[in-house]
Amino acid sequence: MGSKVYFTTTHAAPGAGLLHKTETLFRQAGFAGLIKERDLVALKIHFGERGNTAFIPPIYARRVVENVKAAGGRPFLTDANTLYVGGRSNAVSHMATAVQNGFSYATVEAPVIIADGLTGKDFEEIEIAQKHFKEVRVASAAVHADAMIALTHFKGHEMTGFGGAIKNIGMGLGCRSGKQQMHADVKPRVDAAKCVACGKCSRWCATHAIKVVGERAEIDLSKCQGCGECIVTCPEQAIAIDWGRDSGALQEKIAEYALGAIKDKAGKVGFISFIMNITPDCDCWGYSAEALLPDIGIAASTDPVALDQACVELVNQAADRDVFRGVHEHVDWEVQLKYGEEIGLGERDYDLVRLDNVAGLK
Ligand code: SF4
Ligand code: SF4
Repeated sequence: MGSKVYFTTTHAAPGAGLLHKTETLFRQAGFAGLIKERDLVALKIHFGERGNTAFIPPIYARRVVENVKAAGGRPFLTDANTLYVGGRSNAVSHMATAVQNGFSYATVEAPVIIADGLTGKDFEEIEIAQKHFKEVRVASAAVHADAMIALTHFKGHEMTGFGGAIKNIGMGLGCRSGKQQMHADVKPRVDAAKCVACGKCSRWCATHAIKVVGERAEIDLSKCQGCGECIVTCPEQAIAIDWGRDSGALQEKIAEYALGAIKDKAGKVGFISFIMNITPDCDCWGYSAEALLPDIGIAASTDPVALDQACVELVNQAADRDVFRGVHEHVDWEVQLKYGEEIGLGERDYDLVRLDNVAGLK
């Protein structure tokens, strides 16, 4: 018997809409019991890049806020700043982007607090003593919160195959220098035969590491921070990494950061994953591609490894194929699950509890 993962489909009916189902999951998964009176509760969410449309809609966050308050907690919505150029690399832009995408006190009835501060330098070093890191740099607001509920948009990811709960709290709660540590081994290279010198990659590169020289782009690896944005930007697929080595190490590092992000919060963390709008890439992009398959449902657990394992299997069972290997063929997404279990983040065995069967929901 593995960790319990509570699941409901996206089938909705009178009296059983998706907000009601979200609330039922919260209760059935025992999340109210994770929160004590007056606890500061971090709701870790991705507010979506400007122009992105696939992130979790604020109405779901609001329903979770209401339930955290009903349990006695004091919730706030949070995320840490990004490494790359975009609308979330400092707290001012990040909060403006959150408002633009519909997350504000007026809409979710909780404050938005950027977890690693104005410029991404507010962090605590958390000792984890693992293979890649002895300590990890976790965004301060996440460390100082008494409890945490991670709201995750489960979808594909260009560097890790899929992005789930582990990635949401691992990469998502690393401060900017922490994110840099996770990306440090990623070494992209340009295939000169495919490059058409369009320059799109250089416009997206935050560190000006990639430039068009003559008839091809060139990367200065001494400036490259390994964020991987150029790989997805290139319309010719002319930029690649060593997927086996670089993605594997990245996934392991993310799992180590996830371990640090919830250390000292035993019995105080819950995860809700929305397996909806399953786009091929992450919500850090300024657009959202068409979903890879119809919506699957919403799942919740206190074990992020079991939850991600269940989500990826639900997706693959629904499609009758390995959806994420199909779209990111070089990436072995299983690394994050195997390594997460190895370091004690959670277990891959799970027991799926279908709320549609137990809660009278249709
Ligand atoms: S070259 Fe690519 S991977 Fe390196 S920093 Fe620039 S965008 Fe990121
Ligand atoms: S985006 Fe791709 S094709 Fe365009 S310059 Fe960069 S590597 Fe070359």
